[in-house]
Amino acid sequence: MGGGSADVAAGARVRVILLGPPGAGKGTQAGRLAAERGIARISTGDMLRDAIAHGTPLGQQAAPIMEKGGLVPDELLIGLIEERIHRPDCAQGYILDGFPRTLRQAEGLESMEGGDGTTSFVIFDVEVPRPELLRRLSGRRWCPTCQATYHVESNPPTRPGLCDWDSTPLIQREDDKESAVAQRLAEYDKRTAPLIEYYSGRSRFHRIDGNRSVDVVFGELNGLLGVCR
Ligand code: AMP
Repeated sequence: MGGGSADVAAGARVRVILLGPPGAGKGTQAGRLAAERGIARISTGDMLRDAIAHGTPLGQQAAPIMEKGGLVPDELLIGLIEERIHRPDCAQGYILDGFPRTLRQAEGLESMEGGDGTTSFVIFDVEVPRPELLRRLSGRRWCPTCQATYHVESNPPTRPGLCDWDSTPLIQREDDKESAVAQRLAEYDKRTAPLIEYYSGRSRFHRIDGNRSVDVVFGELNGLLGVCR
């Protein structure tokens, strides 16, 4: 971890926001950065899918919306994040993957972090051209047990159709199917893309070219995070 551990020892609390459309690689990068930096990865998509798997009231409310590619109501997400970022594993910091997705969620996050608009988030906007997003989403396969993701061409499992970690048969997420993808991208354009402007004046805002290999993108994010801290 190099400089990261020194910063943690000095008590720095790193808060990272990963912006970008579905398929930009946010989940993959969030997982790697969290492991490298020893901070929590918070994926609202994973939390909601977990709630659905457990049949909780939140899951029951979210399921039909997610299946069609819509956005779950802001109040539910804000409540979920407010509780999550105060758990002990976030003491050294956290990386948000999939939140905020609307202006209202961004404002909610500012206020829960003591918000006068100057809270020091590091914000990465990961950009990927639309045809490549469609290629990634249509080929994505998912393990319903451990939530690991694969791609039929660029990141296939070792044994065809089976998760490398727990051998569960891989499936295509309902919301990675064509009609839901179109809806998710439309929601992104209408409600999430405006966040780029909301954050772009901040000193720790970085636009990232996500149309490169996982390792190259990770190297850039990790390097910037080192400098930011
Ligand atoms: P993801 O795994 O991040 O692609 O999220 C999958 C789905 O979960 C999204 O298409 C939304 O339906 C829902 N979701 C995840 N995060 C949020 C959020 N911050 N606000 C609203 N809905 C969300």
